[in-house]
Amino acid sequence: MSKKHSKEQKAEPTLDFNSKLKYAAAPESASIANIKKQYDLYINGAWVKPAKGQYFETHSPANEQLLSKVAMAGAEDVDKAVKAARTAYEKVWSKMPAKERAKYIFRIARIIQERARELAVVESLDGGKPIRESRDIDIPLAANHFFYYAGWADKLEYAFPGRKPEPLGVAGQIIPWNFPLLMAAWKIAPALATGNTVVLKPAETTPLTALKLAEIIHDAGLPPGVVNIVTGAGATGAALVNHPDIDKVAFTGSTEVGKIIQKALAGTGKKLTLELGGKAANIIFEDAAIDQAVEGVVNGIFFNQGHVCCAGSRLFVQESVANKVIRKLKDRMESLVVGDPLDKNTDVGAINSAEQLKKIQEYLKIGVNEGAEMFQPSCSIPSKGYFCKPTLFLHTSQSHRIVQEEIFGPVLAIQTFRTVEEVIEKANNTPFGLSAGVWTDKGSRIFTLTTQMKAGVVWANTYNKFDPVSPFGGYKESGFGREGGLHGLLPYLKLA
Ligand code: ADP
Repeated sequence: MSKKHSKEQKAEPTLDFNSKLKYAAAPESASIANIKKQYDLYINGAWVKPAKGQYFETHSPANEQLLSKVAMAGAEDVDKAVKAARTAYEKVWSKMPAKERAKYIFRIARIIQERARELAVVESLDGGKPIRESRDIDIPLAANHFFYYAGWADKLEYAFPGRKPEPLGVAGQIIPWNFPLLMAAWKIAPALATGNTVVLKPAETTPLTALKLAEIIHDAGLPPGVVNIVTGAGATGAALVNHPDIDKVAFTGSTEVGKIIQKALAGTGKKLTLELGGKAANIIFEDAAIDQAVEGVVNGIFFNQGHVCCAGSRLFVQESVANKVIRKLKDRMESLVVGDPLDKNTDVGAINSAEQLKKIQEYLKIGVNEGAEMFQPSCSIPSKGYFCKPTLFLHTSQSHRIVQEEIFGPVLAIQTFRTVEEVIEKANNTPFGLSAGVWTDKGSRIFTLTTQMKAGVVWANTYNKFDPVSPFGGYKESGFGREGGLHGLLPYLKLA
C-alpha cells in the first residue's frame, strides 16, 4: 500500500460529492390526482356555487400550470356556512351519542388511508412539497389525527376527571399552506370529537386537499352542516373570524394575521387559539453524534423548503466542533436533490408561491448586505416554477434580520457558542417560541435545556417528529393554545 493511500484511509470518510450520484428520475404519476376543473363551496352537505359567482385559480408552483378553479367565498357564503354549522350543531351533532360521533370520525380516517396515494399526489402538485414528504408524513399523520381523536370522543370525562366537558358550538378554522391536509386534520378532528361543528377555510394557494377532504367527509356520511369548507383568501378568513355566530376561532398562519385576529376577537367572548410563526434554534454540542445532528439540521430546514413554522432556521454549534459541522453540512447540502416535487428522489421541492419566493430572495439579499457569508450548493434548479437553493449563512449575529425574522424558506443562519448559559440566552433571544432542537450525548444537559428554553416543543437528538398524541403550540409571538394530544381537546370544550 502506498503512503498516500494509507493516509487517505485514515482520514475521516466523507462522500465524494464532486462525482455526484445521478439518480434516474422516479416520478409519481399525476394521473391518480383526479382534480376537477372547478370546485364549489362545501356547505350543508352539498356543493354550492359562491353567491357572487367568483372563482380563483390554483397553480402548481413547480411548473406554474393551472390545476383548477376554486370558489371565492364572500361574506354571504360564510354566513350560509355558519348557519348550516349552527343548525347541525343544535339539531344533530351535539345531541348524538359520543360513540356514534366517533364512528364517523373513524370512517374519515379510514377513507383518508384508502385515498392516501391520491391525496399525497394532490398535496405535492398544489403545494410543491416533495412527494416523499406528503406520502410519508402529511397524509399518514392526517389519518392518524382522525383515528386518535375518534378514540377520545366517548371518553372525554376520563380526559378531565371530575369535570363535565361540553362542546362550545361552531368553530371557525383558518389554516395555512404549508401542511394543507394535515392542518385541516389538526383542526377538524378534535373539534368533531368534542361535539362541535366546523367551518374551515383553507389557504388560497393550497385549497385542493381540503376540498378532497370535503368529498371524503361526504362519503363518510357525516350529517349535513357538521363540516363546511369555504375556500377564499384573507377576506374570506376575516368574514369567518368576524361572524357573530362563531363560538371559537382556531388559526394557524402568520404572526401578523394572528395579531389582527386577536384584536378583532378582543371582548367578543369567542375562544381563540393561535399557532403562529417561529424561529427555532437547533443546538449542537461537541459531544453530539455529529452526522446524526447534521442530518437532523438538514431535515429541519431544507426538507419541505423550510415551509414549516417549527423549521430549525437558526443553528448554534459549539465552537470546538463548528468547522467539522459546517464542512459536513456543506457536503450534505451538495447532495440534496432540488426539483420536481413528484419525483421520489427529490429532497427540496418548489417554494409554495411566487410571492413567497420573492420574500425569500429578499432575505437572501438582506443577509448578504448585513455582512453574513452565504453558501449555496452547486446544484442547478429548474428554470420554470418557483425554486430556491438550500442556503446557509455563516458569520451571523443576534442582531441580523436573517437571525431574528421568520423567512419561511430553506435558509439557515449559523452561529457558534461556548457555554450552555450562552446558548440558552442566544436561543431564547427571539420574539418567537415554538420549537427547538438539542443535540448532545448528555441526558442531564437535555433536561437543563428543555426546562430553560422558551419553546413549546424541544426535540432532543431528533427533529420535526410529530405524533397525534403529543401536544404542539407556542410561547410569546408563536401563539397560544395547544393542538394534538389530550391538551388539544381543551380549546374545544367548556369544562363545567
Ligand atoms: P402565510 O404567511 O402562512 O400565508 P397568512 O397568515 O397570510 O400566512 O395566511 C394563513 C391563513 O390566514 C390563510 O388561509 C389566509 O387566507 C388567512 N388570512 C389572511 N388574512 C386574514 C385575515 N385578515 N383574517 C383571517 N384570515 C386571514
